Amino acid sequence: MTALTTPEPVDDLLLWLRERIAARRALAEDAKGRCTGEWTFRDTAGGRHKVVDDLGYTISDTDDVDTNPWWTGPHIAANDPRAVLDLCDAHSLLLDLHPQVTAAGMLDWCGECSDQEKSVSYPCPTTRAVGVAYRRDPGYREEWAPRD
Ligand SMILES: [Zn+2]
Repeated sequence: MTALTTPEPVDDLLLWLRERIAARRALAEDAKGRCTGEWTFRDTAGGRHKVVDDLGYTISDTDDVDTNPWWTGPHIAANDPRAVLDLCDAHSLLLDLHPQVTAAGMLDWCGECSDQEKSVSYPCPTTRAVGVAYRRDPGYREEWAPRD
């Protein structure tokens, strides 16, 4: 089993995000490789609640209400590895769409958010917004939070 890795301290939001997205992707790929197809929440006979894959193999059995309350099943199913990989793709695309531009002697700026009339420093609001999705991961810095 692949664990969510602890990143090396990084002071660059973009580098940190790329590492965190890669770590999430690795976990999702590992889980995807161990099951078949879509995860589905099922309210089965006898009050059992399960999350199963396309072949009916149990991903999570929420029958034990003391340790696995019924309400976790829909959440687990919504975090199907393929859905997590889609989120990783979306986050990577957003970062690609907002490239960091660097020039000697100048502050870094966003190549998408900036134009000839204004320069938006990096990380731009979009990059900071992507960071919100990973702010519970180790190494996140409050200075990267979206600004008002
Ligand atoms: Zn931007």
